Amino acid sequence: MQITMHVCLDADQVTGGISLTRVSMIARILSASMSSSAKVFDYLVIGGGSGGIASARRAAEFGIRVALIEHGRLGGTCVNVGCVPKKVMFNTAMHAELLHDHKSYGFNLTGEANFSWKSIKASRDDYIKRLNGIYDANLKKSNVERINGHAVFTEDKFVEVNGQKYSAPHIMIATGGKPIVPSVPGAEYGITSDGFFELEDLPKKVVVVGAGYIAVELAGIFNALGSDVSLCIRYDKALRTFDSMISENVTALMEDSGIKVCKNTSVKSVTKADDGTISLDTNTGLMSDVDCLLWAIGRTPNSDIRLDNVGVEVDKYGNIAVDEYQNTTAKGIYALGDVCGRALLTPVAIAAGRKLAHRLFDNKPDLKQDYNNIPTVVFSHPPIGTVGLTEAEAESKYGKNSLKIYQSKFVPLYNAVTENKTQTVMKLICVGSEEKIVGLHMQGVGCDEMLQGFAVAIQMGATKTDFDSTVAIHPTSAEELVTLR
Ligand code: FAD
Ligand code: NDP
Repeated sequence: MQITMHVCLDADQVTGGISLTRVSMIARILSASMSSSAKVFDYLVIGGGSGGIASARRAAEFGIRVALIEHGRLGGTCVNVGCVPKKVMFNTAMHAELLHDHKSYGFNLTGEANFSWKSIKASRDDYIKRLNGIYDANLKKSNVERINGHAVFTEDKFVEVNGQKYSAPHIMIATGGKPIVPSVPGAEYGITSDGFFELEDLPKKVVVVGAGYIAVELAGIFNALGSDVSLCIRYDKALRTFDSMISENVTALMEDSGIKVCKNTSVKSVTKADDGTISLDTNTGLMSDVDCLLWAIGRTPNSDIRLDNVGVEVDKYGNIAVDEYQNTTAKGIYALGDVCGRALLTPVAIAAGRKLAHRLFDNKPDLKQDYNNIPTVVFSHPPIGTVGLTEAEAESKYGKNSLKIYQSKFVPLYNAVTENKTQTVMKLICVGSEEKIVGLHMQGVGCDEMLQGFAVAIQMGATKTDFDSTVAIHPTSAEELVTLR
């Protein structure tokens, strides 16, 4: 108890907390001490995904008592049903694509290439299991106590897991989110990205519904591996919130690659026949004999943990409302990552989690996550890389006349000798007389790995002159970005 009070007061000082913070923390701890069965920590983290694990482990480095509550597999969405298994499948799809180019590069491979979905799924699942174990070992190594089970807030302001009560002066919520399933009749016959990772075989005929990251990525994987793929989008382009060059290019490239992009199409109902095949009634016609329907229409936060009991407010979508320091509306309770509904990306949750740990326990009262210039890649075919403002966003922020746009479209050298030619597109958005770069958008082979370094430069405030004064690396696609005219 003494240690807890000590840390509590320290935390108050380092955060520059007002007396209300102190009163609220002390009240919670006194209440915990009066409840003989409650266990008290200095930092209690709900959710063992990207943000939760990163924050808990970093906080534990500062010598405080940390516990992490997780009701599922450690690692959260990214490790179990997100980035990691998705990237394995993207790599699998890349193999399939490269096979088409082998002949052009002089390899005479005779016969059909046999692909086994079961085989890559087994290796992928094994890898994920190993990762779960590594995360568990890392928590132990960091001295973070793991609590297994589902956490909810109780009326008397504790966190309860399997009937046991817990408390702490600092509680952080990083419970992530889950895929949305629409409320159309028969929607239950479809799967979501979670179900994608459970598929035992490559489906023959697939319909993906949605127009965001997951729809584009999973439709691309199915298509490259040989499924007959239709993508139903509500409007006329995928990735509509991206720069217009990207949304136009990605939609056209998907069509070129054989994906049937069904535009302005909404699903009205779904039925399943006795033989297991699915039919979709849409506003643009009937789609039948479908083996796999995949909903990829966005995600909803896991915020149904009785937040009302502790005064944590959510927005109309259920996202936890936080300020720029990840403070919720309840003192001493913080939230970050997907459950807040902003920049749903693993490195963002990790960075926000670590920064919060430093702010609360490492005397860094001003540390907070910068949500500008977050680089992001869509693992489409070929991949998209983007950082900063879209042209439309830059126009509305700075005015059209302040912008100078540099753009390029070219066939990369890789495709010089191949039958398939995929163009690369690149765009730089520059502002003012010094031509500060405020946006970079590209799609092409290698753009996924190309982006990180350019994002560093842009975060540092690079101008077009800085780019131009950097010697190009030849022959690469990346050199185009420092030679644009
Ligand atoms: P999560 O990682 O989801 O962790 C939340 C954890 O909380 C989960 O383990 C959950 O079981 C647990 N939990 C929830 N409620 C409770 C409760 N009441 N009690 C106890 N535990 C609870 N991002 C990228 O940056 N790059 C990518 O390539 C990428 N690909 C993706 C592909 C897919 C298919 C998906 C779905 C997502 C992808 N993302 C990607 C997004 C990324 O996975 C998330 O942004 C990230 O995992 C969010 O981290 P988080 O800590 O907020 O939540
Ligand atoms: P997104 O928010 O990216 O996209 C969902 C899209 O589906 C919407 O933008 C919307 O596009 C469309 N949509 C919404 N409702 C409906 C509906 N009822 N019927 C048909 N279409 C609909 O969500 P995702 O689920 O794809 O991904 C969630 C998040 O996870 C991403 O935003 C990203 O942050 C993260 N992620 C990151 C990845 C990466 O880093 N590579 C990979 C995968 C996910 P429109 O309005 O045009 O119809």
